Amino acid sequence: MRNSKLAIRLLIGLAIVAFAYFQKCSNTETNPYTGREQAIGMTPEQEIALGLQTAPEMAQQYGGLYPDENYQAMVDNVGNNLVQSSIAHETPYRYEFHLLRDPETVNAFALPGGQVFITYGLFKQLETEDQLAGVLGHEIGHVLGRHSAERVAETQFWQTVSTGAQVGADMGNVVAGIGQTTLLKNGRGDELESDDLGVKFMMKAGYNPEQMIQVMEILKRAAGPNRVPEFQSTHPDPDNRIERIKESIEKYRKTL
Ligand SMILES: [Zn+2]
Repeated sequence: MRNSKLAIRLLIGLAIVAFAYFQKCSNTETNPYTGREQAIGMTPEQEIALGLQTAPEMAQQYGGLYPDENYQAMVDNVGNNLVQSSIAHETPYRYEFHLLRDPETVNAFALPGGQVFITYGLFKQLETEDQLAGVLGHEIGHVLGRHSAERVAETQFWQTVSTGAQVGADMGNVVAGIGQTTLLKNGRGDELESDDLGVKFMMKAGYNPEQMIQVMEILKRAAGPNRVPEFQSTHPDPDNRIERIKESIEKYRKTL
């Protein structure tokens, strides 16, 4: 009895590995919103589910949600403006914007599927609504650019193999296997693409895109000379990004 069960589990396990391999080889698709080719193993529905499932735990790590409803309303308002006036509202993603309580950490991030977060530590340093639009626009860019899903696809194959194909893994196990680092780790290319999309969304929604440069300055200041910048782990090199942001502004002034 026990042996036949084991055999079945082994077969299923092998099937999962074979499936992962097949996905890795064949899952190159063109992102309809960026035009970029990506290898992605999950559907937008799975991205949304993954984001929604991880969101509460993520919020908890930053002290939960910020209690002031007026500030949260401001974040919602700017976020929704950006979504409604851009291609973001044509995507299947469910955008939700969360202001987190943590007053020390300067950070913003997005989970796959549309859960977007900004810490109060960053929020309180922003001087204008346009700068808030810059931060949120950048994060919407990560969602629409499907950056987390791309990172997951990169690591998933090897994890599936190395864990011996956790048989019958439900989404919870997959989440545990992937880990937050993968979900939040963006490459330099991801950052630049998100900056570019952020600038585009800002301009579409009528915000001043130059303010994205101020956001970079704020991040630079927050990093400080000695402090190991929290933001750096997910958003490297504010300095080098400014030049590219200027190029994006020029580009979209001509084409939008
Ligand atoms: Zn980013």
